[in-house]
Amino acid sequence: MARTSAYDLLLRGGHVIDPANGIDARRDVAIRNGKIAAVDARIAVSGATKVVDVRGKYVTPGLIDIHTHSFGYAAWTFPDEYGLPNGVTTVVDAGGAGWKNFEQFKSSIIDQSQVRVLALLNIVGAGMLGIVEQDVTEMQHEPCAEMVKAYPDTIVGIKAAHHDGPGWESVDGAVKAGDAAGVFAMIDYHRHPKRTYKELLLDHMRPGDVHTHMYGLHTPQFDERGKVHKFIRDARRRGVGFDVGHGGGSFWFRIAKPCMDQGFQPDTISTDVHKGSFFLPRGTMPITMSKLINLGMPLREAIDRSTRHAARAINRPKLGTLSVGAEADVAVFEFETGDFGFVDSGLASMRATRRLTCHVTIRAGKALWDLNGITRPAWDKSGEYIRLPV
Ligand SMILES: [Zn+2]
Repeated sequence: MARTSAYDLLLRGGHVIDPANGIDARRDVAIRNGKIAAVDARIAVSGATKVVDVRGKYVTPGLIDIHTHSFGYAAWTFPDEYGLPNGVTTVVDAGGAGWKNFEQFKSSIIDQSQVRVLALLNIVGAGMLGIVEQDVTEMQHEPCAEMVKAYPDTIVGIKAAHHDGPGWESVDGAVKAGDAAGVFAMIDYHRHPKRTYKELLLDHMRPGDVHTHMYGLHTPQFDERGKVHKFIRDARRRGVGFDVGHGGGSFWFRIAKPCMDQGFQPDTISTDVHKGSFFLPRGTMPITMSKLINLGMPLREAIDRSTRHAARAINRPKLGTLSVGAEADVAVFEFETGDFGFVDSGLASMRATRRLTCHVTIRAGKALWDLNGITRPAWDKSGEYIRLPV
C-alpha cells in the first residue's frame, strides 16, 4: 500500500524570520495542500514528498507590496512578472482603477494572476487615466464606496493621488469613501501653497490612513534646521502610517539617510513599482529593503515592515505570516555580503555591503520562482521526463 506523505514540501535548515509569530531562528517549514503545516526546529524528512535544503538562507513569509501598479496607465507592470522573482506574493494595486473600471481590472488582471492582487480603489471614477486624475467631478465618494463594498475580498482601501488642484477634493473624497466602506485610504501629497503637508497629516487623514512617498522629493520632511518636522512625528503618534512607495521619484538617499538617522523609519516598505522604476532605479521589494538595510535598518525590521506591518496596514492580518494553517506564501532569500551598489530616484548611486536576493517564491504551496532550481529534481536523475509537475 502506498504511504501518503505528511507534507508536500519541506524547507529544511533555513533561518526563519516570521515577525508575526516572533520567530527569528533556524527552523524547518513544512507545507501541505497549499498551507503551512508545521514550523519547527526539526521536522522529520521521512514525512515529506520533497525536501529542499535551504541552509544558509532566510525563509520569510511572502512579501506584501502595498503600493504597486498593475493597471490603468501605460507604465504598469504585470503582478506575476514583477512579484514572483522578488519574493512578493501579494501586491496591492494603488489606484489604477476607479469604480468605473475596477471590474475590467478584476477580470483582465486580478483573476488571471498567480500573485494575490488586492486593490486600492482610486477616488477618481476612471482611475489613473492621466488627466482624469485632475477632474474633481470624477471624485465621487458614494459610487466609490459602493464598489468597495461589492468586492470586500479584493478591495482593501481607497487611493487619492496625483491631484495638483488647490482644493482637498481628492483627499477628502477618499476619506469619505473610506468612512462609508470601512476601509483605510492611501494618500500621496502633491505640493500646493493652499494645501500644506501639515494640514494633510493632522487635519485630513485619519488614524490608519497611510501617507505614501515619505522619502519623496515632493514631500516636505525637514524644518529649517534639517530636522524631521515635529508635525510629522505628531501625525505618526495619532496613527497616520508612513510608507516608502519608492517609485521613480520617491526614494532619495539624501532624504532617506537623514530621516533614518533621525529615527524616522517607514511603517511599511513598498515600491510603487512601474516601468519607470523597475530598471533604474530598480525599486523592487528586495532592492528597496536592501537600500534601507544599508542605511541602518536591521534585516528583521525590513522583513517585519514588508510582511506583518504591511498586512496590518491593509487590514489583512492573516497574510504576511508563516502561521500553521495560513496559505503557504513563502520567500527564500540569500542575504549576501559583498561589494554592491544601489541607485536612487535621482539616479545617484550608493556603495553598499549587503544585498537581499530572492531565490525561491512559493505562492499557495507552489514554488513559482526558483533562481537556481533548488526545488527541482536533477535532469539526469528524472528518467524519461517531458514536463515535471510544479
Ligand atoms: Zn503610485
